[in-house]
Amino acid sequence: MSVSKVFHALIGDKSIVLQNTEFCQDHVIFWGRLRNHAKKCPCCGCSDVVIKETKERTFRTLNIGEKRAYLKIDVHKTLCNRCGKQSWMQLPFSCGKLPMTNSFIRHVIQLAAIATVLAVAAFLMLQWKTVKNIDKANLAKRAKQFSFKKLRYISIDEIAIKKRHKYMTIFTDITTGMIIHAVEGRSEECLRPFLKLLAKKAKRLRGIGIDMSAAYASSIKIHLPNVDIIFDRFHVTKLLNDTIDKIRRNEYAKCKKAGIEVLKGQRFLLLRNFVDLDDGQKSSLKKLLEINHPLAIAHSMKEQLRSFWSCKSKAEGAQFLFCWVMEALESGVQLLAKAARSLLRRCEGLLSYFDHGIDNGKAEGINNKIKVLKRQAYGYRDQEYFKLKLYHLHKKQIQLIG
Ligand SMILES: [Zn+2]
Repeated sequence: MSVSKVFHALIGDKSIVLQNTEFCQDHVIFWGRLRNHAKKCPCCGCSDVVIKETKERTFRTLNIGEKRAYLKIDVHKTLCNRCGKQSWMQLPFSCGKLPMTNSFIRHVIQLAAIATVLAVAAFLMLQWKTVKNIDKANLAKRAKQFSFKKLRYISIDEIAIKKRHKYMTIFTDITTGMIIHAVEGRSEECLRPFLKLLAKKAKRLRGIGIDMSAAYASSIKIHLPNVDIIFDRFHVTKLLNDTIDKIRRNEYAKCKKAGIEVLKGQRFLLLRNFVDLDDGQKSSLKKLLEINHPLAIAHSMKEQLRSFWSCKSKAEGAQFLFCWVMEALESGVQLLAKAARSLLRRCEGLLSYFDHGIDNGKAEGINNKIKVLKRQAYGYRDQEYFKLKLYHLHKKQIQLIG
């Protein structure tokens, strides 16, 4: 294969003639010349132009192996004999003022979809801001392609941004796992514009899965009074896990006072589903629960509550929930009783699960991806960019942490 063929493959365009090539230690330089037919007036497309000014420009293009590659080319300011306008000619292999070929920009975008901005920048030896801006511009162009008409179930969730002080509310289509909207804050005022939009456009929306906090529920009741609120499994499990964690911490403090160290590092055993533990973990957990009564009760109640989701009907679910709540209230474990009262107050939203039977698996998957995305937070101080990344999160197949 000739160098010229390689050159055209790298540039992704045949309007340049390769004139010279220089191989250096860590980079390659191609000198090129625009073919005459490519010299056109950018305003009217006429080829009858006079060159008024010339300057050399350098464009980064696709690497050759480990060597960076550059294209050096003369660009011209032309005077058009037809329309009379003077302007710098447009180059078919690049766009705007970026000193890169389109083929290289596409490469940056492909890498930014699977790796962090910092990793891509380091790999291609670019500034991280350059990578971010390219990725951001591309995401902005393709952002949010979903149909309001197809929405049937969504979930509304909050994520902490900027270390606990600020929150962002995320709307996810439960069926596709796609984040359809993100907005700073979690108050009714912050949610209002999008909830109104949903009320107007999402005519088939039947249910919204939310967490146990009152804020979202009241906002939804105002703007979408006919849509069911569903407290989904994920959020109920989270409430119970938080409760167990609080009990564990209380008990740990008690033991520490008495000079016994038994509970450290057991958090994971308590919060995980019992069936998912291996034999060693199961026996450690049993030992822990044998010596700690309140934890043993809370753990057993947590495990029992999982059966709620397997109830066959709404009536069966209601009966199960009622029995569970009574048992928790009588357990003598105050934090557990508190959680039970909280569930009882929201029993309508809990039982509406049986009317809709939504599976929140995809939304949960997205939650995990958000966590990963937040860990790679370089550049996400730019909140618009962070949101754009969120809207494309459901597409992401590979995730490289760097
Ligand atoms: Zn012209």
